[in-house]
Amino acid sequence: MEPRIPARTPVDRRNGKHVKANDIPPEGVYLPNNNYLAPHMKSPEYVQLSTAAAITLGVMSGKMHGCDCTRCLNLLLTYPEGCRANCAYCGLARHREADRDYADRNFIRVDWPAVPIADIVDIVAQDPDASDFHRMCISMITHPRSEEDTFTVLKQWTDRIDPDEIPVSILSNPTTMTRDDVQKTRDLGADIFTVALDAATPEIFDRTRGKGVQSPHKWSKYWEILEDAKDIFGPQKFGAHIIVGMGETEYEVLNLVQELVDLGGHSHMFCFFPEDGSLMDHLPATPRDQWRRVQLARYLIDYRGVRVDQMRFDDLGRVKSYGIAESELADVIDEGVAFRTSGCPGKVRDDISACDRPYGDSPPSNIASYPFQPKKKDLKKIRRQLDIPVRVE
Ligand code: SF4
Repeated sequence: MEPRIPARTPVDRRNGKHVKANDIPPEGVYLPNNNYLAPHMKSPEYVQLSTAAAITLGVMSGKMHGCDCTRCLNLLLTYPEGCRANCAYCGLARHREADRDYADRNFIRVDWPAVPIADIVDIVAQDPDASDFHRMCISMITHPRSEEDTFTVLKQWTDRIDPDEIPVSILSNPTTMTRDDVQKTRDLGADIFTVALDAATPEIFDRTRGKGVQSPHKWSKYWEILEDAKDIFGPQKFGAHIIVGMGETEYEVLNLVQELVDLGGHSHMFCFFPEDGSLMDHLPATPRDQWRRVQLARYLIDYRGVRVDQMRFDDLGRVKSYGIAESELADVIDEGVAFRTSGCPGKVRDDISACDRPYGDSPPSNIASYPFQPKKKDLKKIRRQLDIPVRVE
């Protein structure tokens, strides 16, 4: 799973120069690729939001396979310079400035329209109780302004919307953060703090988002901020993102899941998908059998009290048994929750994520993380992928 080497960016396209030189002012909602040139938009006035959130908010039209809405309002800070990191699997990575303006880049398989944060807050504040959103999340990117602008966006939200009604998560950028910054997000009303480790091991981290791709991130700094989040936010209120299928073994990733649970946190899983335009777009998506085993085992560790050392693995680190009785395992599979998108919870149950990220890690034709409750036919398919026979009632 080696990333390709990025080409050199022409000088006139570095650091958003191209967008800033054209200096077109933004007007209302900006839909990616709809304009001839991306306007000069910046946080904190502007943020980007996922296509699913834009449809749910009513600022964009569209339909999503199998779901009427998303339960999480995922926001992303935005700048003409874009993210200054270069993570190999990510559509927002710096190397893409060579051929795509930041506001037009795909991220986790979808476009991210840009909208004034004041407009978003106005819409949701009309009746937060009746809102489809069960959670809001601010994703920081690697940019010198990302802390200050995160505080501003968070304050603008919590000034008008009670975080008890719609709680807020922070998807942090540890590289530029201090412990005081983590504390400030808590003081301003955030409820859960997450760190996108993304890689399951320090070696994969270095290769995909550190030195290997001229990116500034360090595994040790990510863990430092994760520990700060543990102290400041407390048990069950912090977590880490992990992408499955970037070259780690199933045992390695599940060992990390156990480590996070032992610290009092959770893991939020993504199935590797070769994002168009990224440095890993030539590589295969995670095989479904591998993904399903990890998804199921992670759910058992996170929510059913099973430990990784109760599970058995083969010589290649693949899960051979899940550490619980077959009948119990069958019940967990049939319930289907284990195969839904994992992330911060909403208003339904602790193990059902508000952050459902419709089709963020797979196409609807071959779903990895289900953004809806899997139906009977989905569960049949999942059992086939797990190589566990369909139960005869
Ligand atoms: S820091 Fe985050 S947004 Fe930036 S390139 Fe890496 S994964 Fe993408």
